[in-house]
Amino acid sequence: MGMENPVYLDHNATTAVRPEARDAVALALAVTGNPSSVHGSGRTARRLVEDARDAVAALVGAEPACVVFTSGGTEANDLALRGVAKRARNLCSAVEHDSVLSVMDAIVEIPVDGDGVVDLDALEALLAGEDTPALVSVMLANNETGVLQPVAEVAALAHEHGALVHCDAVQAAGKMAIDFRALGCDLMSLSAHKIGGPPGVGALVVADDLALIPLLRGGGQERGRRAGTENVPGIAGFAAAARAALESLSDFARLGRWRDRIEDRLGQHASSRVFGFGAPRLANTSCLTMPGVEAETQVIQFDLAGIAVSAGAACSSGKVEPSRVLAAMGVDANEAATAIRVSLGWNTTEDDADKFVEAWIQVHGQADVHAQAYAGAHAA
Ligand code: PLP
Repeated sequence: MGMENPVYLDHNATTAVRPEARDAVALALAVTGNPSSVHGSGRTARRLVEDARDAVAALVGAEPACVVFTSGGTEANDLALRGVAKRARNLCSAVEHDSVLSVMDAIVEIPVDGDGVVDLDALEALLAGEDTPALVSVMLANNETGVLQPVAEVAALAHEHGALVHCDAVQAAGKMAIDFRALGCDLMSLSAHKIGGPPGVGALVVADDLALIPLLRGGGQERGRRAGTENVPGIAGFAAAARAALESLSDFARLGRWRDRIEDRLGQHASSRVFGFGAPRLANTSCLTMPGVEAETQVIQFDLAGIAVSAGAACSSGKVEPSRVLAAMGVDANEAATAIRVSLGWNTTEDDADKFVEAWIQVHGQADVHAQAYAGAHAA
């Protein structure tokens, strides 16, 4: 225990940069050349970008030409929603990331069940109800709970009704096998820093025949779909992380065993509840309660014990607000306020998982003491 060697269990916020990615960034930084320049230096940079396109495409089973590099998952989501020819309606699952839900002024929420899985009957009713063209956006894996969505079914249903489908696969990529073609979606968002690449780079995968209206105009980079000199070091780092993640996908299952053990032990120790437990989930994520202890208190206590976890979605700059995701799942606000997210990553060890359990029991024990003291002080 101690701050010198913190146990980092917040990999869904951002994960450790893989050594392969670090090396690739450094190598690319040593290349002087704009990929659009025709001279040899430019061609070297161009080669880095095109090799990276192959690697990122391979991670999700897409054609390289479908990959449009962006500045991250947020831009990919924005480009997906704004980049398709104007749709009369945007149907988004109620548990989407803010970078999806905030893009359009008017969105229609697709409800989810108690485990956070989209209600396909409700989606069908929404699609059948009106004749106007829609864009359906449903994520592959949720950032807070790890719950997986039936994206292939969503896509089939949406296409029957002439809708386009966008899938935010930012959290799923590198943690499970993904086949863009088999899922049948038209657009898919990815982000490098969630798979061990550098922050500030991502991609939107766009189906072959889909025209995209660029958000950023200027040079004709990314085949006219995203202007701006390419972030060559970032893109090269993204690619190296994608290759490493794809090669080690099977290792991710191991994290599932440790995650399950954490949940078992906490469930036995106290009545900790795990959100999304009844649904298929990412192997690395657990959103769980410590009864009676506010999430912020837990995060601070864990931090003091040298363990990094998060209270709800950390993407909103450290501001802790009630989780919209848990609310959409019908979780009582008081219970949701006691939920933290534990997310394991490619460099998590079994010892890290065990240390978390020990710390949890300790924090929980102290909470009991505080609660008793509080109750005693307030007794009549
Ligand atoms: N989508 C999901 C599901 C996420 O979890 C995140 C980041 O937390 C994003 C999109 C945004 O990605 P980025 O941080 O690359 O902008």
